[in-house]
Amino acid sequence: MAIDWQPFIDVVHSAERFVISSHVRPDADAIGSALGLAGILESLGKTVRIINPSHTPDHLGFMDPEKRIQKIKADVSIESACDTDVHVIVDTSAWQQLQDVGLVLQQTSARKVVIDHHVSSDDLGALEFKDTSASATGVLITELAEAMNISVTKEEADALFCAVATDTGWYRFSNSDARTYRTAARLIDAGVEPHVLYQQLYERSSLARLKLQSVVLGRVELAHKAQLTHTFVTRKDFSETGAHPTDTEGLVNSGLAIDGVLASFILVEQIDGRVKASLRSREPVDVATIAEKFGGGGHKQASGAMLAGPVNEACARLLKEFERAFENGNAS
Ligand code: 5GP
Ligand code: MN
Repeated sequence: MAIDWQPFIDVVHSAERFVISSHVRPDADAIGSALGLAGILESLGKTVRIINPSHTPDHLGFMDPEKRIQKIKADVSIESACDTDVHVIVDTSAWQQLQDVGLVLQQTSARKVVIDHHVSSDDLGALEFKDTSASATGVLITELAEAMNISVTKEEADALFCAVATDTGWYRFSNSDARTYRTAARLIDAGVEPHVLYQQLYERSSLARLKLQSVVLGRVELAHKAQLTHTFVTRKDFSETGAHPTDTEGLVNSGLAIDGVLASFILVEQIDGRVKASLRSREPVDVATIAEKFGGGGHKQASGAMLAGPVNEACARLLKEFERAFENGNAS
């Protein structure tokens, strides 16, 4: 369902200074949507800052060649971030995902806006432009440009294409609908060369990542009548392989590639001992509901949560919730 952008356009025309933020551990949809929106607003002569709760991970640095994305507290103070007319949050509606940017939202007197496609949602006190049927926030930003009659530059189109590409697993997950492909076509018309971006996103791996993959895949276990797979990564695995936390991205999907498997999760031990869970599923299994039981959220087929450690206990708690979901004929 297309969003009615008029209330957002009214906000844009009534303000001069914008801050755009996204979620912790930003992915390409978070970064690309922020950069795309910044370009749209700047083409209208607005002043725009992008201030995120985390640094941009190294492997996505190519999306922001001018290094314009700032990190709250490291590059810009909370007070400074509060000093704006409008604060736009893209690709999340959850306080937990905003960390120190949440403090800004609580203190600022700026108008707040959310542009998002996640099912899970908190009340951020913002004007919401939310479409949970959109495969990526990048789709929404591309549609906003179209609604405003603004042509995106090649750089912005590249960022938006990466946003949509990664949230759809390079246009192959079940969320890759006609609207997704129409968005891709528009961005290609704006100058995107998909093969160049594919290489940037997926063909710059390291030997360390490959070694980590072999450890993690070697540990995959089947559960619940071979319909569920799970695996884990410890802090020791990172130090032994030399891999980075972002090197686990996408690994959870390998568990879903087994015939008959309906859901998969991976647990990643954090520096502070907590455990980040990434959940994936096929219809009809709803993993957003399971993640929400642990204070997390996301989409029906892709969700996440932060659990208390240690890893084996987090695993047992998740397995129990999955059992319950499967027994109930699914968790929706
Ligand atoms: P990932 O497994 O890639 O971290 O996350 C999958 C999806 O779930 C993403 O759309 C992400 O935004 C969402 N997600 C991951 N962790 C959390 C969390 O702790 N809280 C909420 N609300 N969503 C999360
Ligand atoms: Mn997204």
